[in-house]
Amino acid sequence: MAIRLCVLGSGSKGNSVLVDNGKTRLLIDAGLGARDLKKRLNMAGVDLQDLDGILVTHEHIDHIRALETFSKTATVYAHNHTMQAILERGIELKLSQNFDSECFSIGSMDIETFRISHDAVYPLGYSISDNNSKITYATDMGYCSQEFLTKAQGSDIIMIESNHDLDMLLNGRYPAFLKRRIVSNVGHLSNYACAAAINELAQNGVRKFILSHLSEQNNLPELAYWTIIEYLKNKGANERDIKLYVAEQRQISCCIGCN
Ligand SMILES: [Zn+2]
Ligand SMILES: [Zn+2]
Repeated sequence: MAIRLCVLGSGSKGNSVLVDNGKTRLLIDAGLGARDLKKRLNMAGVDLQDLDGILVTHEHIDHIRALETFSKTATVYAHNHTMQAILERGIELKLSQNFDSECFSIGSMDIETFRISHDAVYPLGYSISDNNSKITYATDMGYCSQEFLTKAQGSDIIMIESNHDLDMLLNGRYPAFLKRRIVSNVGHLSNYACAAAINELAQNGVRKFILSHLSEQNNLPELAYWTIIEYLKNKGANERDIKLYVAEQRQISCCIGCN
């Protein structure tokens, strides 16, 4: 079976996605409250005991909230520097495995990491593949690095941040320092920047994208969706070949398969 994704939640209040190929089941991030996340995992048809691991992108609370509880049952995988940052926050992990290599395997899945630009100690994105499918996860990034664009090639599905509409952010109620942080190179990706990345990746053959980590204050699902469709149209891309999903904060997504 090819890899399928179920987004358990996405946004500044908590992030987690289930990656499942029938043999191996991973979570990327566990940022919702433990009870809520466990319930959502069950709704996706998976028990906590069934997980082969939890990959952590970075130590911000919206990515690690359930980690301590979940680590009693499933092994947490984090880069050395991120693991240290998690432990320094006083979070105790019962089952954990740190890594510093760019490639490793968990069960039937091969994991490849790449650096992303964000204000955490060592933020990573992940490409995960098995014999017949590949997905890439990249959220929380101030800009799209060339490394991300290269590593994401050949993916069947890319989960990519579409955090804010720039006008909504700049005219919104956030304090100036927070606006500056979000638009900085180590902040979050705007709808427009996401659209440019999708256009480039679509030209290289990627067909499915999940717009993720949408700001509840500074974005709207329809606005993110249509900003990207309009951008693709303007660039002459055949947007009907491309499937866009919008991940939600409050409910789990449908099951999104690689084929
Ligand atoms: Zn973050
Ligand atoms: Zn985040």
